[in-house]
Amino acid sequence: MEIEKLKEKLLSLPVAERERLLKEIEDSTKNIDLSSIASRRHEFNNKLGVCPHCSHAKYVRFGKDKGAQRYKCKSCQRSFTEYTGTWMAGLQRKDKISDYLRLMVQEKSLDKIVLALGINKKTAFDWRHKILASLGGDDGDNFTGTTESDEAFFLRSEKGMEVKDRKPRKRGGKSTRRGISNDQVAVIVTQDRKSGLDLSVATLGRIGKADIANAIGKRIKKGATILCSDSHHSYKGFAKDVQVEFHPINVSKGQRVKGAFHVQHVNSTHNRIKKWIGSTFWGVSTKYLQQYLNWHALKEKIKSDKDTLAAFAQQTLGVGALKRFAEIQPNYEKLIATQC
Ligand SMILES: [Zn+2]
Repeated sequence: MEIEKLKEKLLSLPVAERERLLKEIEDSTKNIDLSSIASRRHEFNNKLGVCPHCSHAKYVRFGKDKGAQRYKCKSCQRSFTEYTGTWMAGLQRKDKISDYLRLMVQEKSLDKIVLALGINKKTAFDWRHKILASLGGDDGDNFTGTTESDEAFFLRSEKGMEVKDRKPRKRGGKSTRRGISNDQVAVIVTQDRKSGLDLSVATLGRIGKADIANAIGKRIKKGATILCSDSHHSYKGFAKDVQVEFHPINVSKGQRVKGAFHVQHVNSTHNRIKKWIGSTFWGVSTKYLQQYLNWHALKEKIKSDKDTLAAFAQQTLGVGALKRFAEIQPNYEKLIATQC
């Protein structure tokens, strides 16, 4: 297309569309600053880091590994580089990392990423989930002040997986069973009125107080957290166990607000997650649901950052990503085993 015609066409777009396009073009020419990898290298070179395997502080330089500096721990004798434990460890195509992260932040489909980067779909898929696994380690600070918690249900989905024991359901279908059943995956959403947020895949079907304890127990503190939820007995039991002030809202009886207490923030978070997963990914398989929840939590965390791309990239550099990536399958099996 001639440039003049293209220009004419672009200028005829609505303002919001033009702005979005401009942002994408701007982003596409930017190189992501993976400065925390550079600073890890700096730390290691200046003997300020610790062994990622055993946290020992003494190590020596130990040759190179595919362009990265390698070190050897004096305690556990294992070697490592600045990438060890991060999602980038062992990747063959490190030159594609910036471009991949950029396309991921733009929420491009895997097919589009495959096309743009000339990588195969398995690689594109694995990278997405290694990156998302790198987001799952931070449990976050304690919930303070009024803290809403409530479960949301997602239809169990085996999208993209071989289905053996049941008829596949059409996308967007309804569970054939009424009420809450093993067809439904319970996600516990908890947030305080500051920025504390936790999104946890809990179980199939109804949640019990042990599920709540698993999801948020570590972040609830007597005297600091004021818990607010529906009046379901699991929450009552949990609140009693951890001895926190509890305000039940009887949503099923039409109660919405009780003084300053309500669960409207978590309910709006439920809706936003469902809408995002439904419209951006056309649903996701239950096996990877926690991964997408990690992604959503990060989006919330960095949404007011000026440079969301850089903020996203910085958050994906934690150690422990590969370990959590390897735990996706066993965690899924554990979840499936909760059905009765
Ligand atoms: Zn060590």
